[in-house]
Amino acid sequence: MIINDTLWEEIEPWMIELRRRIHRHPELGLDTPETQKLIEDALDSLGIQHTRPILHGVKAVIGSEKAGEAILLRADMDALPILENNDLPFRSEIPGRMHACGHDCHTAMLLGAARYLKAHEAELPRPVVLMFQPAEEGPGGALPMIEAGVLNDPPVKEAAMVHVSSDLPYGVIGLREGPAMGACDDFTLSILGRGGHGSTPHVGVDAIYVASAVIQAVQGIVSREQDSFDPLVISFGTIHGGYRENVIADRVDLTGTIRTMTPATRERAVRRFREVVESVTGTYGAKAELVMDPGYPPLVADISWSRRVESVLQSELGGDAVRQIDPTLGVEDFAYVAERVPGVCLNVGIVGDQFTTGLHSAGLIVDERGLRAGAAGFASLALRS
Ligand SMILES: [Zn+2]
Ligand SMILES: [Zn+2]
Repeated sequence: MIINDTLWEEIEPWMIELRRRIHRHPELGLDTPETQKLIEDALDSLGIQHTRPILHGVKAVIGSEKAGEAILLRADMDALPILENNDLPFRSEIPGRMHACGHDCHTAMLLGAARYLKAHEAELPRPVVLMFQPAEEGPGGALPMIEAGVLNDPPVKEAAMVHVSSDLPYGVIGLREGPAMGACDDFTLSILGRGGHGSTPHVGVDAIYVASAVIQAVQGIVSREQDSFDPLVISFGTIHGGYRENVIADRVDLTGTIRTMTPATRERAVRRFREVVESVTGTYGAKAELVMDPGYPPLVADISWSRRVESVLQSELGGDAVRQIDPTLGVEDFAYVAERVPGVCLNVGIVGDQFTTGLHSAGLIVDERGLRAGAAGFASLALRS
């Protein structure tokens, strides 16, 4: 089994050291020059050629002279605007920034896999493309890298990504075939009424009253129109309006998010949301200004590719190391890759003795023993799938 190769005894501490260096210097969005330099230096030390398809993204190819279409392995590089609340020797050195989604681990695991694969380059059945992308947490780095040709030259046939999972113990990899992660459509809604004195509401149009009717009505799309086996969530995140206790508000501003699992449900949910908002505000004599902000598409893992991945991981990591997991309405911009070629996500367990809180929290502690399984998982797919 690849996971038991003695080469990991050298790669594992190297990978952990890289992860800690990235963790100390988190970078946000598309602006990831230091992380890019660390990746490029590591690839140089391994003798692996690399390019910059976008300003702060990295593409590298191992086995470029091999015949056939490539497998693409992807890691993201960016952190979150969170103040780290951990007393670790390698905690974030930049106040207000933290690798709280584990992308430091993802980059380190892909570099670990790169080192293993470079050592086994002669055995590679096909070229391997390494994709290091910024801005997964927004505004999105996968799509610009695709538009810059990351899936061409060599042409990519299948793809895989890693993401750390705070639901799984270290050493375990979770897989989900078919619809695996959600689509996201955020919205900003302003309800415009007509102000007046609180004692004479009939003279105005109360935007607060209309907003409450809209909030109630749109949940009917979820509870009365949607197949309960096809997930849909509509959540309002903010609401602001009004002046004081005896004034009829002329305006209420709301924001929120619509989450779905399939393109067809997504299209219908956004359309019905718009219709219900407009008809309810119209019924009460108010006006709606609705701005939709379409986010990432759903991540749908190709079923036959997922089953091959599962069988390879069981052979090379051990049957107990692979588990089926539930889908989530969280989002992931690797979905753009999986729309174009068969794609799958390896959910890498990071829960160990010190585990405190989940992803996107200031107290996240990763059990780094999980990194070996993720890197070996990537390497196994490149060598055996
Ligand atoms: Zn995240
Ligand atoms: Zn993430």
